[in-house]
Order: sequence, then C-alpha cells, then structure tokens
Amino acid sequence: MNRLNGKTALITGAARGIGLAFAKAYIAEGASVAIADIDLAKAREAARELGPKAVAIKIDVSSQTSIENAVEATIASLGRIDILINNAAVFTAAPIVEISREDYQRTFDINVAGTLFTLQAVAKHMIARGDGGKIINMASQAGRRGEPLVGVYCATKAAIISLTQSAGLNLIEHGINVNAIAPGVVDGEHWDGVDAFFAKYENKPRGQKKKEVGESVPFGRMGTADDLTGMAVFLATNDADYIVSQCYNVDGGQWMS
Ligand code: NAD
Repeated sequence: MNRLNGKTALITGAARGIGLAFAKAYIAEGASVAIADIDLAKAREAARELGPKAVAIKIDVSSQTSIENAVEATIASLGRIDILINNAAVFTAAPIVEISREDYQRTFDINVAGTLFTLQAVAKHMIARGDGGKIINMASQAGRRGEPLVGVYCATKAAIISLTQSAGLNLIEHGINVNAIAPGVVDGEHWDGVDAFFAKYENKPRGQKKKEVGESVPFGRMGTADDLTGMAVFLATNDADYIVSQCYNVDGGQWMS
C-alpha cells in the first residue's frame, strides 16, 4: 500500500472496465487520478464513487484539441501528471473482406493516434517539468498474433506495441519510462459487443464464444480487470525505473498456448 503516495495519474477510458479498475488500484496506493473518458457522465459517476482523490475529465482521444484540453484540465486540477495510462480503445471487428475504410480509420484514430498523441502531450509536460514520469500503453494478445475476425483491432494493438518500443527508447533520456501491458481475454461490459459480433459471424448463440474463450485460457478462466492492476501499479513505481520499452503479457498463459 501507498506505493504511489502523492503521485498523480491520467487514465484514459477510465469510466468503466479495466481503466476504472486501474483508477481504483492507484487511489488505493495513494495516488490522485483523472478519470478521463469520452463518456463524461459515466466518468463523473465513477469519480463520485471513488471519492476526493478522483476527478472526471472529458477526453476524445481521436481529437488533438480534446487531448490538449484534457491534459491541461488534468494539470489544472491535480497540479501535474506523473503517470499516464493510455487505456481508451475501441474493439472494431469484421472479417478482412468486410472492413470498411471508415471503420479502419476510426479504429486507428482512437487506438493508435489516440495513444501516440496523448503520450506526446503528456511527455511534453513531463519533459518541461524535468523530473520524468511513467507511461503505460494498453496493448493486447491481439497485437501479438492474428485473429481471423478482428484484423483491424489486432493491427492497432501491434502498432501500440511497436510505438511503445520506439517511444521508450526516445524518452528514457528524460527519465520517462514507456512500457505496455498485453492482457489476454478480460471479462467486462466490453464483451457485450464482442459476443454479439461473434454470434453474427460464427452463427453461435450469445455467450457461447465467451464461454469457449474462457475455457481455452491455460489458467482455467477469463481474466478480470483486477488481474491486471498489480502490473499497472508496479510499472508506475520506481521499482520499474530500469524497465524500458517492454510489453508484459498478463494473460493467464494465453500467449504460451
Ligand atoms: P471498455 O470498452 O470496457 O472501456 C473502454 C473505455 O474507453 C470506455 O469507458 C469508453 O467510453 C472509452 N472510450 C472509447 N472511445 C474513446 C475515445 N475516443 N476517447 C476516450 N475514451 C474513449 O474496454 P476494456 O475492456 O476495459 O479495455 C481497456 C483496454 O484494455 C483497451 O485498450 C483494450 O483494447 C485493452 N484490452 C482489453 C481486453 C479485454 O478482453 N477486455 C483484452 C486485451 C486488451
């Protein structure tokens, strides 16, 4: 406990799911957290529940202006940003022959450009301040290997792993550690859309895909958001100072299977 005492964090996509679990874990470790999300009402609800160490911030990571406003608003509210988690993403899915240019563009704008330009805005603030920081990007097992029905999502997560490698090398001279986490399958609201998608393309009843995926994980079940918080806290502490450009699997053994 208290491993992040006095630290401030900006977490994108934190109104629900994994980002919200990270926010809770960071607050439990003594940090103050900006719950940044495109869904401001939900971010406010989450911040109210988390108490005085949480503040809700509106961000659309696909818009440069929105990113800059959100970074400014976070600094105005919390004083500084020590930690950034680039967590916001969309799960766009379609077989390769059906992917539309619009879906491709939107997915890359949110997942890849969103990660890059939020990282850039926060890194500039950290460099100007001069005392370093920690940046964690959310990748996925989907960025490590192909999946037949979610090719664009996979490509965005592979791009995030690659960006993490370059950004880490670029920024370590400023004392900024950039690393990534690659979860496997994680249960949550996100699966409502995923299940509907697979029901359409694999002609399976809703829930069937989720059950199959859960059973295929070597650990014996799907992950939960709480399974990821230990790594997210560790990468934000000084114990991770010598870790640069890495992407850690937290996946119940999925990558090895
Ligand atoms: P989720 O869909 O439950 O939550 C995503 C959040 O991002 C939502 O609150 C949403 O409002 C917000 N968001 C969407 N578009 C945005 C935008 N343009 N700007 C700002 N916020 C936006 O997702 P999750 O399951 O909690 O996943 C979180 C992260 O973990 C994502 O990067 C995802 O790719 C990654 N991940 C998830 C899983 C999984 O199985 N759930 C597996 C591997 C990796």
